[in-house]
This record gives sequence, structure tokens and C-alpha cells, in this order.
Amino acid sequence: MNRPPLTNAGLMARDLSVLWHPCTQMKDHERLPVIPIARGEGVWLYDFDGQRYLDAISSWWVNLFGHANPHINARLRDQLDRLEHVILAGFSHEPVIELSEKLVALTPPGLSRVFYADNGSSGIEVALKMSFHYWLNTGLTNKRKFITLRHSYHGETLGALSVGDVSLFKSTYQPLLMEAITVASPDCAQRTPGEDCAAITLRALEAMRETLEQHAQDVCAVIIEPLVQCAGGMRMHNPAYLAGLRELCDAHGVHLIADEIAVGFGRTGTLFACEQAGITPDFLCLSKGLTGGYLPLSAVLTTERIYDAFYDDYEKLSAFLHSHSYTGNPLACAAALATLEIFEREPVLERNRSLGARMEAQLAPLRDHPHAAHLRRTGMILAVDMRPDARKPEEYSWLERRGLRAYRHALSRGALLRPLGNTLYLMPPYVIDEDEIDILCGVLIESLDIATRD
Ligand SMILES: *Cc1c(COP(=O)(O)O)cnc(C)c1O
Repeated sequence: MNRPPLTNAGLMARDLSVLWHPCTQMKDHERLPVIPIARGEGVWLYDFDGQRYLDAISSWWVNLFGHANPHINARLRDQLDRLEHVILAGFSHEPVIELSEKLVALTPPGLSRVFYADNGSSGIEVALKMSFHYWLNTGLTNKRKFITLRHSYHGETLGALSVGDVSLFKSTYQPLLMEAITVASPDCAQRTPGEDCAAITLRALEAMRETLEQHAQDVCAVIIEPLVQCAGGMRMHNPAYLAGLRELCDAHGVHLIADEIAVGFGRTGTLFACEQAGITPDFLCLSKGLTGGYLPLSAVLTTERIYDAFYDDYEKLSAFLHSHSYTGNPLACAAALATLEIFEREPVLERNRSLGARMEAQLAPLRDHPHAAHLRRTGMILAVDMRPDARKPEEYSWLERRGLRAYRHALSRGALLRPLGNTLYLMPPYVIDEDEIDILCGVLIESLDIATRD
């Protein structure tokens, strides 16, 4: 049969007649194109009309080593011929064993057990349930609440949404959610003229201390995105906050859950963000970059102490009876192993240091831009806020949709940016080269210019 050649327009029409896209007001697509992608290579995505787009956001923060990475592709093909999937209860397989050994070796000392789920939000649910269940198994039945930080994001399932604080995603579903205790964020951008980050850190720790003093007996855990609160606007804080928080949690008998779903695997400059504070959380949640952006998988690492509280005779009913169908999928584990091999073979973190510095240097002109505030960077995450006046705290109304303007302009210039409200950011795959960084930074400056014009 002769089929007409595929085009962007043809695929978009078919798409819009059957799909419902994530995190999207579908009516926007009456005017905004859906862009069907035919193939990807390195940092580039290619559509059906011969246009290409630099994937500046690593396809929602998952991709580390480029699209169609030859090493990951080869490892996946090899695994595909052996075993695509098997139940992980009562059964096991080599990729999941090897991956667990590697994660235990690579993550902060003291994390010795790995539990799998199949996406980030599910991983958060695992950590929340395990923390609650640990206290129950040890006889502390009052502990039912969680402490979270202002502007935090931990996913979209109801438990994860409950411990998040991005109102755009949360407020509609508030009646369905469990109650969380929300404490001030250590976001450095809150500093007033003359103040430094250390002052913000101390103030935020003081707020946490007061909350724990009041509520610790009812609290299972504090949950945090270490170093960068990503979806809440790429808000960055000092590693000293993590060290202080670890001490406070220990002093008050409360777990610390580190959600490194977005910041793990080198994003912040170290393999894991917690390393920069020298701390070990009670639970470490990983996903996104875990498989190099290939397949959904999440891992929750915890300590032997927590594991032991569930280990008993069956009749005691103290086991963690939680599962997902695709838990520890062999293909996903193989992609994760291939990703970790790239970290072993290549000086990834070292290269990222110079790539990150180049992004910052290229965007230095924004320090004097009248509408660019808080240019900031942690490792391979760089962000800047669009403001009516960069020197004042007033923000553009969300109704102006300036982020969308920046998105559209960047697309027309061959880059995929996806601003968070008025915050523009870069979080590219680690295989980006210096020329591509220069192109991207040029597009970002231009997009900010155009989006902040009245
Ligand atoms: C993306 C994200 C999640 C949720 O992961 P999903 O795979 O999208 O469910 C949780 N926490 C953080 C910090 C994230 O960035």
C-alpha cells in the first residue's frame, strides 16, 4: 500500500484527534503546534518537516547522554534478546542484581537496600509508605505526618502531590490530599540586599527547628529536593542547609527523605547532591536520569536499620506488601547499567564542570538585563527569572504567559526550552558541546528579550 509521506501537519491532526497530552490545556493546541519527532541524535530532535530542535531540557530532565546513544542502544538490544521482563517477587535477574550492587556502592555510605518502582512519583509513594510503616513496626503509631518545604515538588500521584507545594498542580486536588506541614524554603533568591545565602540557610533551619520541636512526635519524615527545587522554579540552596537538616532530623527522631529524582546522576556537579553536604538520608529516591532517559524506572535506597524493622516471621504482618507490575524491569535496568558504565568510562563530572561554567559565561550579559533577575547555576542546571524590573521583587502576572512567548520564540530558532512560569532554565544533556551551548545561550537571551517586551 502506498502511504503519503509523513508530515508535521498530518501527524499533528491525527495526534489531536486521539491524544490527551500531559500537563497541557489541550485548547492551547488550536494555535500552538504539536511537534511530532521522527528521530533523535545527541542533543538534537528532528521533526517530519526537516526542522531540528536542541533539547535544552533533556526531555523533561531525563536524558543524560543524548538521544540514540550508541552504548545504551547496544546494551538494550543485547538485553532484549535475553529477557524483556520477569516478575520480581520470588524471582530475580542479573541486571537488577548488578544495578542494585552498583547503586549501593555509588550512593552515600549507609544506604544498603534497594527497592524498585517504575516512575518517580511511585518511588516517592514507596518512601512515604516505608517511613510511616517503619515507625508503625517500631511501635510509634502517632507518626503519620510529613514535613515538606515551600515550593517543593515530588510528583503527581496523590501521596506525592500531598507533600509537594506547587499550587498550580496541587490546589485543584486539595480535597483529596493528606495534610502536610509546610516549612520555609532555603531558596537563596530570598536574600535581601546585603544578605548572603548563609543567612537564608540559618533562617530556614531555624524555622525547621521550631516546626520539629512542635510536631516531631507526629512526624514520620522530612522530604526535600537536595540543592535544587526544580519544578517549583529551579530554586537553589546552600549544601549547609542539608547538613543542618540531617542534624535536626536525627535530634528529633524523624526520617530524612532525599528526592534526587531530578538532581541525581551528576546534575548538581556531584554524582548525588547529598554528597555536597556529606550526608546520608534515610531514603534516597532516584529516577529520571537513572536510565539515561530511556525507560521508566525508579529506585528507593534505604538503610539496613529500616530494612530490619520489616524483617520478621510472616504472621507478624510487618512486611512491606507494596508492588508495581513492572518493578525492576530488566530492560530498564540494562539501560541504567549502560548509563552508569558511561560515568565509569568517561570523565563526565569533570566535563560538566567546564560545560556548566561555559553556560554561565555565555549568559553573563543577562546580569545587566533590565528584565533578568537571579541568574543562578548549580552544576548543569542554570536558571533566570523574567521580571518587570530585575531589581524589584514584583513578578509578571501568570496571565501574561511570558514563558509561553519564550517557548514559541525558542522553537522558531531551533531550541526546546520549556519555561516554568516566568523562569527560563537550561538543563541540557551532558553530551552537549561548546558550540551547541553558545547557540543555545544565544537563543535563550533572544527569547528572554522578546518575552519581556511589552
Ligand atoms: C519529576 C519529579 C518527580 C516525579 O517523577 P515522575 O517520574 O514524573 O513521576 C518527583 N520528584 C522530583 C524532584 C521530580 O523532579
